[in-house]
Amino acid sequence: MGACEATPDKPAVIELADTGDGVATTSYAQLRERVETYEDALADLGLDVGDRVVLESDTSASAIALYLACCLLGLPFVPVSPETPTKRLLSIIDSARPALYLQTERGGRDGIPPEVGTARFGPDGLTVGRAPQPRIRHRREVVPTDPAYIIFTSGTTGRPKGVVMSHRANTAFFRAVLGLGLIAPDDRVATTSPLQFDFSLLDIGMALGAGATVVAVPRDRLRWPRRFLGFLRDAGATHVHGVPSIWRPVLRTEPDALAELGLRGVLFCGEEFPLAELRRFQALSPSTRIINCYGATESMACSFTDVPNPLPEDLERLSIGFAHPGAELMLADERGRPVTRPGVVGEMYLRGPSLFSGYWNDPDATRAALVPDPLNPASGQIVFRTGDLAHQGPDGAMYFRSRADSQVQIRGNRVELAEVRRRLMDFPGIADAVAMVVPGSGADPVLCAFAVMERGIPEPGRRELRAHCAEALPDYMVPQELQVLEELPVTENGKVDRAVLAARLTTPP
Ligand code: ADP
Repeated sequence: MGACEATPDKPAVIELADTGDGVATTSYAQLRERVETYEDALADLGLDVGDRVVLESDTSASAIALYLACCLLGLPFVPVSPETPTKRLLSIIDSARPALYLQTERGGRDGIPPEVGTARFGPDGLTVGRAPQPRIRHRREVVPTDPAYIIFTSGTTGRPKGVVMSHRANTAFFRAVLGLGLIAPDDRVATTSPLQFDFSLLDIGMALGAGATVVAVPRDRLRWPRRFLGFLRDAGATHVHGVPSIWRPVLRTEPDALAELGLRGVLFCGEEFPLAELRRFQALSPSTRIINCYGATESMACSFTDVPNPLPEDLERLSIGFAHPGAELMLADERGRPVTRPGVVGEMYLRGPSLFSGYWNDPDATRAALVPDPLNPASGQIVFRTGDLAHQGPDGAMYFRSRADSQVQIRGNRVELAEVRRRLMDFPGIADAVAMVVPGSGADPVLCAFAVMERGIPEPGRRELRAHCAEALPDYMVPQELQVLEELPVTENGKVDRAVLAARLTTPP
């Protein structure tokens, strides 16, 4: 953080004041002081390089300082959000076997297993509850290949999957991304994702790396558009980073306040932004630069692509462009052969220095995702098999199509769930839609779809929606179950929650 020397008095972090009203500012000098306080306190605990530290917190100046202190000491940092159910936290602890669990002074979590040390943290330092078990220190150096953090994602097996990211990967990533100049030193970047989602670490790195300011948006504000925008205004936010779903309630209920805010930049990540909503955003706030950030936790992120402004009327899908400088995406078919013809779908592979080290304690999953370069397997180079399908445009830019695993078989026919979704989205007034399959009573899964309407548009009948699908899709691709909902449920990270949708089918409202 060169900004500590260059601009010590500049705000590094702006967050909600302790009183719950107004904002509190931590300067770069104060942040550095806090990092040093935490570093000393953690060093006193006698932990070894590589010992994991679970940090349960929302994004705050103290949480950021702890993250930096852990990095300096080589203690892999495992962020967990306070919203996390205890059962899930315990399963992460069971898997990560941390030396230390930290929560805020106000945190209400108990029941941490006795073999794990516990402490609370606040602006003044750490208060140890139970000292970590004594250990022999084997390592003296923190080396760039050491793990910096582990992000536990949902994983398809139901067991949290830990993505291990090294200091080297992280540094290579930020060096490349800061070079894009998306954030200027006088910007204030609002971060809205929970700390456990690496998207928040991306926001923190982009803002502090540029010598700008992180604005930590309290998560509960996202549910109340007026309060969300009010906080952005009070904090002087110029940029907002977040998943697309944070904007839906704002576009519905606070369009004028959004227009007045005059944001310089919005970066979205994690899933596609429905085009109708993007158009509405651009109409309200034409001078906002909107960036489509594509990528997975396994490489922090991958590409940063400007959304055309205004979006051409006939645009069918957004481009995710090219990987960030120093990395490259390529397409290959099921047998690993390169796919280069524009428009032909293949699976994306990412090559570059910012790839994860592996999944925590899961060599099989690691081998499936970190694979020999399909173009040059003899080289020993390992690349990331993303599990995402895409096609290239004539200039080589990528267009995300769907997850490879969203290709399902129905009555022996290959069905691309994204295609079903797109057809539904063509129906006038549909703001967003999801297509998915759930197990049926027979051998075949049941194809289901959910849609939400734009504000004020009356709900169409199921028959009407089905007829619309049948007009363009073969019979086996017409959803058997169709529901129109007030809103799509989202996960803690703000992405569509398919498990909740599936549960709606078995227990109709
Ligand atoms: P992240 O934390 O970076 O969002 P996750 O690991 O939770 O990543 O999920 C990554 C997946 O989300 C990607 O493999 C892709 O399927 C989807 N995804 C991420 N960003 C985008 C985007 N901008 N457009 C479409 N899909 C996206």
